[in-house]
Amino acid sequence: MRSQFLPFSKPSFDEEDIRAIGDVLRSGWITTGQHASKFEEEFSAYIGARGSVALASATGGMHVALRALNIGPGDEVITSAMTWVSTVNLIVLAGATPVFVDSDRDTLMVSPEAVEQALTERTRLIIPVHFAGAPADMDAIRRLAEPRGIPVIEDAAHAAGTEYHGRRVGAAGSAIFSFHPIKNMTTGEGGMVCSDDADFLNHVRRLKFHGLGVDAFDRRQQGRSPQAEVVEPGYKYNLTDMAAVLGRRQLARLDDFNRRRTALAMRYRERLAGVDEVLPLRDPAYPCRHSWHLFIVRLDIERARRDRDAFMESLKQRNIGTGLHFRAVHLQKYYREQMGFQRGMLPNTEWNSDRICSLPLFPDMCEEDVDDVVAAIKDVLTHQ
Ligand SMILES: *Cc1c(COP(=O)(O)O)cnc(C)c1O
Repeated sequence: MRSQFLPFSKPSFDEEDIRAIGDVLRSGWITTGQHASKFEEEFSAYIGARGSVALASATGGMHVALRALNIGPGDEVITSAMTWVSTVNLIVLAGATPVFVDSDRDTLMVSPEAVEQALTERTRLIIPVHFAGAPADMDAIRRLAEPRGIPVIEDAAHAAGTEYHGRRVGAAGSAIFSFHPIKNMTTGEGGMVCSDDADFLNHVRRLKFHGLGVDAFDRRQQGRSPQAEVVEPGYKYNLTDMAAVLGRRQLARLDDFNRRRTALAMRYRERLAGVDEVLPLRDPAYPCRHSWHLFIVRLDIERARRDRDAFMESLKQRNIGTGLHFRAVHLQKYYREQMGFQRGMLPNTEWNSDRICSLPLFPDMCEEDVDDVVAAIKDVLTHQ
């Protein structure tokens, strides 16, 4: 057994990162300034996006996006229940109605067919989730949304560096990335809204900072001019320069991080191929490049004769950390008790919600760590 605990995720930093943050502190300008601006420019260039706005979190980005699209009471927003709770919480807080569609059992992505069936006259927005580092089938989803004039916001929290049909996620349409510490690149906490719609992006930029009309001149001057006026009430979700400088450095290493994640994921696949009790996810059928945000398996609970929570606990006892991405949103207390969602509504999502488990995967892991995880899984499964 391993003598040292292996966490399921860990960000990768070097001494240069520490020095860069130190330099920002020493400069005397620590909040949103030149690093945040440069981070936005560099992120747009990497993604191939028309423009980007940096924020304090992806959740903050989703909040201002819903506001910019004027989502409110009477509106239906189609999304997945196999996602992080933040999206659905914000839909509800906006007074709108979340409409859940089931996900594909083996990719965990919403299927365009399910989205089509959920469309009504009240559908005002579709939020597909790119899951675990693979892309959702955006062409098919856009073909449903565009003729009906329904906007699409992609939840790209798992998809920094992911490609769909040869283009990076975020290059077309509007997408929101997360830089939470477990994501493929981190700023401590942070997020980025990318869009090819300049008006939407300007609106997001305004709403993330008090609703002040901020122009290019203000941004060159670091911060805002004291004369800036409130154009509409806004929020406060700006990203600090301490965080942004880290984001710039992480972005420069993102392709290396993702290559490393891919190599580790391929080793998991190979080593787990003969372990019948754990089922990895399937790659989507369309052309894509996976960024391997998560290596997810589903425990065959019948064959393994134990539930997923016991499986995770047994791995923990063997010094292997795991994660759970995600427990189905519609089965959480508030959504069951206050909104009447029930088991049985989303069979594939529920099947996965009971069986899903994320294995350790981060760039600083070595091959032997993967082998330790696989050995621990085999050991757990041979003991009752
Ligand atoms: C992490 C995550 C978010 C939220 O990101 P934050 O930056 O923590 O707000 C949203 N959606 C998904 C699918 C996520 O994994």
